Amino acid sequence: MINPKVLIIYTGGTIGMINDPETGALKPFDFESLYASIPELKQFDYELDTFSVDEPIDSSDMNPELWADIARTIFDNYANYDGFVVLHGTDTMAFTTAALSFMLPGLKKPVIFTGSQLPIGQIRTDGKENLITAIEMAGMKDMSGNSVIQEVALYFEFQLYKGNRVTKISTFNFEAFKSYNYPLLAQAGTNIKIDHNSLYRSQKEELELVTNFNSNIALVKLFPGMPIKSIKTLFDFSKVEGVILETFGNGNSFSSPEFEKMIADYMESGGIVMNITQCAQGNVVLGLYQTSVHFKRLEVISGRDITTEAAVTKMMHVLGQTSDQKERIELMTQNICGEVTI
Ligand code: ASP
Repeated sequence: MINPKVLIIYTGGTIGMINDPETGALKPFDFESLYASIPELKQFDYELDTFSVDEPIDSSDMNPELWADIARTIFDNYANYDGFVVLHGTDTMAFTTAALSFMLPGLKKPVIFTGSQLPIGQIRTDGKENLITAIEMAGMKDMSGNSVIQEVALYFEFQLYKGNRVTKISTFNFEAFKSYNYPLLAQAGTNIKIDHNSLYRSQKEELELVTNFNSNIALVKLFPGMPIKSIKTLFDFSKVEGVILETFGNGNSFSSPEFEKMIADYMESGGIVMNITQCAQGNVVLGLYQTSVHFKRLEVISGRDITTEAAVTKMMHVLGQTSDQKERIELMTQNICGEVTI
């Protein structure tokens, strides 16, 4: 068997940060030094190549253009590698993994994101194990020579998560991510246990690159007693083309004719609205309670069990594909690449 070939793409994040001597704050460091500090990588019987973005960043500075750059790097190098590992800051990693799942339809090779809670230069770093196992997973093949993982995934602290089903849950624990509504794709112990039933398989023949995202959207988290006037300016189609409402429990909201009318007028003017739950686990069931019947009546889209990260990136993706309101609603309702349980 030929040794797997993996491309490691470095974008920044804590894994490669050092303390700025002037401010004391953590800031990105150059990739060469980072790579040199992991001699274990030389023991791999994989062929490893590296690519670093010109300016590594804290992932708080990520945006759709930078997501597209990462997706393009994978697309352009797709034929030459068996898998890809992307080093990325943890803060917005779940947004990037969800975004890339929409940007790379037809993926048949692994794209594994990882990072760390402690910089690789620190003695207790979690970065080494995360990187080493992510690389191992990116090169895994089955008996017929096909990649075991054929999707965008996130590896962190012994667990592999589906990229568009994961959320950052801790700033402190090494177990920084969780996937509340979807099983783990794999678990790393003395060996790597894959959950084959949870793996995604694209029906498309060829890999495509779909980077047109429209970020004219708003995300509104409801709270009891919220004054409607405080969110009214967002429901203006000339500025915001889609709104995601983070609602209570199974998709419920306060009963307010003013709120209902604002949504109805907004949809009338061309906007789309999706209802997702503030709960980490479970899903939106419109009409289960009286307090969500108005959303059903208004034909607000149910986000079901989607994460906030996947909802935001899905809406940017969908708005980028068509300007027809009906088509937008239809696409938002579909399960595009395993981001929602239907
Ligand atoms: N602020 C860092 C980032 O997201 C945190 C980390 O990487 O863990 O880039």
